[in-house]
Amino acid sequence: MAPRILVVEDEESLAILLRYNLTAEGYEVEHVARGDEADIRLRESVPDLLVLDWMLPALSGIEICRRLRARPETARLPIIMLTARGEEAERIRGLQTGADDYMVKPFSVPELVARVHALLRRAKPEHVAQRLVMGDLELDRVTKRVRRGDRELHLGPTEFRLLEFLMKSPGRVFAREHLLDQVWGQDVYVDERTVDVHVGRLRKVLNRRNEADPIRTVRGTGYSFDETFGRLN
Ligand code: CA
Repeated sequence: MAPRILVVEDEESLAILLRYNLTAEGYEVEHVARGDEADIRLRESVPDLLVLDWMLPALSGIEICRRLRARPETARLPIIMLTARGEEAERIRGLQTGADDYMVKPFSVPELVARVHALLRRAKPEHVAQRLVMGDLELDRVTKRVRRGDRELHLGPTEFRLLEFLMKSPGRVFAREHLLDQVWGQDVYVDERTVDVHVGRLRKVLNRRNEADPIRTVRGTGYSFDETFGRLN
């Protein structure tokens, strides 16, 4: 069955363009133009991926995104946010709300299609290997063992899950709020600073002497696993 994509966009010409191109790629595409319609549609059935405009009549993309992330059945739904706003603060807000990717209008349609492919690939659990290997770092998701070079690393359960989560999507930046949801769970109410504490502990175990740090701090946003880790030197 073809993956289902819901496009929420009130600019008709852009909606037609997206529908045409995504259909040509073999996806099943549905389209709604209003935020409140999107909210209703998403409660009725969950697509495989959502392309969501930020500025919509009746209900904003940001609010839709927030509602989706708060519901277990859509907490992990891949979302690409579209927006006319290119300012850094707005990008950060988009990511903090839990969008997986972000495109600023006007964007290239082939690039959006490429990102749709990439997100859908990433969302399929069978494509995630038992062992995650980056540079000299190796994490076994079944035996729960982590090695760096020839030494075994002893991580606490939270640090393990945090590293596993970041390693699954190298290069992708996760907001603290998103990490709390995905690593700690949505029913746990802890301060966002908790993430910093555990990243600190993780780094202490991961990195010795002058070893390269695979965890990248993105100021004002959150953390990511450095996609260039192990490729340099
Ligand atoms: Ca709009």
